Amino acid sequence: MPSAAVSSRASTLLRGEILDLHAYHVPDSTGCVKLDAMENPYRLPHELRNKIAAAVADAAINRYPDPAAASLKEQIRGVTGLPDGMEVLLGNGSDELIQLLALALNKPGTTLLSVEPSFVMYRMIATFTGMRYVGVPLAADFSLDLSATLAAVRREQPALVFLAYPNNPTGNLFSADAVAQIIEAAQGLVVVDEAYYAFAGDSFIPHLARYPNLLVMRTFSKLGMAGLRLGFLAGSTAWLEQLEKLRLPYNVGVLPQLVAVKLLEHHETLLQQAEQIKRDRAALYRQLGGIAGVRVYPSEANFLLFRVAHATEVFDGLKRRGVLIKNLHGGHTMLNDCLRVTVGTPDECAKFVAALQDTLNQLAQGENHA
Ligand SMILES: *Cc1c(COP(=O)(O)O)cnc(C)c1O
Repeated sequence: MPSAAVSSRASTLLRGEILDLHAYHVPDSTGCVKLDAMENPYRLPHELRNKIAAAVADAAINRYPDPAAASLKEQIRGVTGLPDGMEVLLGNGSDELIQLLALALNKPGTTLLSVEPSFVMYRMIATFTGMRYVGVPLAADFSLDLSATLAAVRREQPALVFLAYPNNPTGNLFSADAVAQIIEAAQGLVVVDEAYYAFAGDSFIPHLARYPNLLVMRTFSKLGMAGLRLGFLAGSTAWLEQLEKLRLPYNVGVLPQLVAVKLLEHHETLLQQAEQIKRDRAALYRQLGGIAGVRVYPSEANFLLFRVAHATEVFDGLKRRGVLIKNLHGGHTMLNDCLRVTVGTPDECAKFVAALQDTLNQLAQGENHA
């Protein structure tokens, strides 16, 4: 069939929200120093890789995965120190869990509320699951605007609230007390998204029992397992046994289950890498802070947000020099002239800083000549 005919059929049949949506864009990073996606830059020790290879060689990939994922859940309970009486629900990455939550709660007319700027998938998933989306602006320093957020929670009565703790793309950790007040004010379900827990100094997991409307979501993506696609929700059985009904039975494959179990047996190796990344983050923060014209924001995640004039030219200049970071300019008014760089190895960070200085020098010269 000619493609014009296909596309006219598609635009008749597809929901308007889908036609209007922009796909989540993942740029090609071939040959680049890749500092755009908050991945852990470190490979696993050889010994551990060999153990994984042996386990994979033995895996029964002719069988469907264990739908209960019993051993993996047991490992997760252990490494997260899950309080008694709390359960976990596994997702194919935490993105899948955001979608599952929205599908479970999107009665007609219900609202998903988050803050802005924050993780773009909250808005995207609200849109394609047909939920109304409300984004409450953060304060100018990217802290929670507590009175505005509490007012919005009371006014909009959201069925679902997402708070990223620490926040992406700003990197800061909101005040725990402010988050607690939002959880208490909300009639709906509040999900504290702890994607960056390994790099932060606080968590809501120990407080799960205190709030009947709280779930904590985590992913292992930022800790070195982005390729496995594994996230989980932690919370009370009453919530999770309902949400479990929506989970597709085999959403986490045999290989991700098996590899994650092996990796979590060596959780301390991953946490040591996270500690290294935190030290490198501190060094990179100081270096960026020392560059004239760059304003860098404090971070409790494995990335740094910074502001620089002509951000898009700077981003392009870095890319031409083989360094891929994330351009946030144009995404949200509060992120004008903002770029986000993932903390890489010291060598990658050095290449990034050198490319940045070179780009800024070239832009300055261009202006002098103009
Ligand atoms: C990266 C990220 C996720 C998604 O992680 P996956 O498990 O890889 O889907 C969720 N929330 C926040 C805030 C993130 O930054």
